[in-house]
Amino acid sequence: MNIIIRNATVLTMESEDMVKGDIGIKNDRIAFIGEKPESFEPDYEINADTCLAMPGLVNAHTHSAMSLLRNYADDIPFWEWLTEKVWPVEAKMNGSDVYWGTMISIAEMIQCGTTAYADMYFHSEETAKASCEAGIRCSVAKGLIGSSDEDEQRFADTRSLYQEWHGAGDGIITIMAGPHAPYTCDPSFLHKVSEFCSELNIPIHIHLSESEKEIEESIKNHGKSPIAHVHNIGLFKHHTLAAHCVHLLPGDIQLLEEGNVHVVHNPLSNLKLGNGTAPVMEMKQAGVKLTLGTDSSCSNNNLNLFEEMKMASLLAKGKTFDSTVLSAYETLEIATINGCKALNLDGTIGALKPGNKADLILIDMDKPHWYPHQNLKSSLVYSSHGSDVATVIINGKIVMEKRELKTIDLEKVKYESQRIVERII
Ligand SMILES: [Zn+2]
Repeated sequence: MNIIIRNATVLTMESEDMVKGDIGIKNDRIAFIGEKPESFEPDYEINADTCLAMPGLVNAHTHSAMSLLRNYADDIPFWEWLTEKVWPVEAKMNGSDVYWGTMISIAEMIQCGTTAYADMYFHSEETAKASCEAGIRCSVAKGLIGSSDEDEQRFADTRSLYQEWHGAGDGIITIMAGPHAPYTCDPSFLHKVSEFCSELNIPIHIHLSESEKEIEESIKNHGKSPIAHVHNIGLFKHHTLAAHCVHLLPGDIQLLEEGNVHVVHNPLSNLKLGNGTAPVMEMKQAGVKLTLGTDSSCSNNNLNLFEEMKMASLLAKGKTFDSTVLSAYETLEIATINGCKALNLDGTIGALKPGNKADLILIDMDKPHWYPHQNLKSSLVYSSHGSDVATVIINGKIVMEKRELKTIDLEKVKYESQRIVERII
């Protein structure tokens, strides 16, 4: 289908400049931006007079099915939260629960302008299935926890996930390996993960250096930081999505910069769980590749990247006592372009330009908190709401138009998520 978006204010993210014009989409790709070529015949037209068009946001770290646990375990210490609240309830969850939990998250993410996300959980074929049906781009990783003789089965599960789902939904589903964290995977298991990733040529999605306790235990057990530990094992030779990196020891930043690592900053989850704040500006200045995630709704408690962008920018300014750092545009880069690279999708999605896949959002600027229209990049990061997103297009398909979800039966999803929670909690 050929879609034309008329008269949008376009932030391509190729540069900071705004362009006023039309956007043409032919099947799954952007055909042109600016003036419509004679030869382009649209089948469908969207009026974007009052809208800003930009690349969709990328949530580079979440556990989408955990939206079932939203507002279930708050205001308690991190370790108690994880081991006494989250893990026991997760043990009761089946594949169907993960499907519906993922679906409620996808509905929320699309409504807040997220067009791609990286997920780590279990029953991950259900995450892939829900994402495929809803039409959202997803890098799926099955969480791997290893030290037992079930190792082979765990790798077999990820291998079959890869065989069944990698490239599904016209390429919107990709697969990563998901070793949960160095404190839940012993060294021999992580060596196997590394060999496994070489064999399938897939990236890694892992939690690293999230809490102080993790650092203390890593030093006690391995004599080094979690980052140095997994670097020694060889994980960083693979494309690695490293969530958190909050507590860093001397030398860690250099290892992150030198490795094939994309650090996912999750400011709200780190704050809410009392884990502190990542040294984002030190990492950025050292050339570490940075992107943004929400983590799950059990520690955030939503998946709204507009909130995350504002928090990331303000935290960086507050931490460094410097209001010039992490500008609005730099924050937008972290949440869009950098996210595409982190999900290993550079060259597929990214800036709005002809030839790239059409993953874009239209944001309604005709709202009081957008007026007066001055610096629109500032509006996006400092004063907009996720609910300003009007229309979302992913892989050339309209998945939301004028806030109406096109691929999700929201009433059914709400009903099912409530029904599940009454059983498992
Ligand atoms: Zn996480």
